[in-house]
Amino acid sequence: MAVLCRVSRRLSTTRVPLPVSRSPPLLFGVHLYLHVPFCARRCSYCDFAIAVRRETPSREYADRVLAEWSHWRRHERWAGEQGIATVYFGGGTPSRLDPGEVARILDIIGSELPIAPGAEITLEANPEDVTDDAARAWQRAGVNRVSLGVQSFDPSVLAWMHRTHTAAQVPEAVARLRGAGLAELSLDMIYALPAHLGRDWRGDLAQVLALEAPHLSLYGLTVESHTPLGRWVDRGQASPAPDERYAEEFLLAHATLNAAGYRHYEVSNYGKPGHEARHNSAYWRRAPYLGLGPSAHSATGDLRWWNLREWAAWSLAIEAGDSAVAGEERLDATSRGLEDLYLGLRTDAGAGVGAVPAAVLGNWVEAGWAVVADGRVRLTPEGWLRLDALVASAGGRD
Ligand code: SF4
Repeated sequence: MAVLCRVSRRLSTTRVPLPVSRSPPLLFGVHLYLHVPFCARRCSYCDFAIAVRRETPSREYADRVLAEWSHWRRHERWAGEQGIATVYFGGGTPSRLDPGEVARILDIIGSELPIAPGAEITLEANPEDVTDDAARAWQRAGVNRVSLGVQSFDPSVLAWMHRTHTAAQVPEAVARLRGAGLAELSLDMIYALPAHLGRDWRGDLAQVLALEAPHLSLYGLTVESHTPLGRWVDRGQASPAPDERYAEEFLLAHATLNAAGYRHYEVSNYGKPGHEARHNSAYWRRAPYLGLGPSAHSATGDLRWWNLREWAAWSLAIEAGDSAVAGEERLDATSRGLEDLYLGLRTDAGAGVGAVPAAVLGNWVEAGWAVVADGRVRLTPEGWLRLDALVASAGGRD
């Protein structure tokens, strides 16, 4: 990949006339996700498929993921694909991977299936991993967007979350990334924390705004079983935020970030104009995506499948040359319609009015949960707070 990007940069600055090609342009249709499962410690709220490791087995991971790539590259499901539209290293904590292995993965994949010139290539990072050397190495490897896990600026909240970084490391990481030419930044924050933490959400929003990142992702805390937080709640040591405060903080973020020039383009995502996440937007458009690594999901057309969840099981399967797929399903017309509605309504593109029964839509509009314009129904922030219930009611499943 890096090769393609370097070539395209050179071509864009040269005055030598380019040869006229008679070939049709390549279609960069597939979106690539790589799940990097390694973390230094499990955060208190996290139920993702991770492997806690003091040392990250970077070489082993890259070898396995490239073996899995080779399998799918030759597979009939992707036979028509001519190129990769976006790449996303998610996790886990991809910033714990040796940057040299990030470069090797991108180079090998890009040499076998072209990555679109200027493709969005995102790497998730935790602030403590962002050194000057790492940031420069990611940039040289072809990474052009970094999603930074911030969550809060309150030291006691970070400790409660089992985060492994300090609040002070966040602006340092942002400065280092910008210094390395990685200005396309997204910062993750979590709201609706238990009341006993006394978290100042308004203050945290002010601090994250001061960093002037072009993209922000805000997630409401959910309590998952089999997490430290789930156990604390079971034992009565923590209580989830009540619905009223969840709504209050969601709406405060919406108003504050809108006023600061961000577009709330998806229920959890805000971007300055032109900085919306291209990779994640592909999921919401039901574009084809290939997931590599433990627990990664893939989809093309109505077919979707998912990998073995645990690092050890996935790694052993790949090493043995076996399939790492844990399950697959084909959407029927009903589930496809429901999913299209859900995906449309979670974004500000909305869904076609015909997808929602007229009587149901009338109720939504009257309640202030939706607006209708240009043949589309779009949820308001109050509607987004009820997204699941509204989709269920439109699908006759309430
Ligand atoms: S760093 Fe991210 S993936 Fe790892 S445990 Fe924390 S929240 Fe989960």
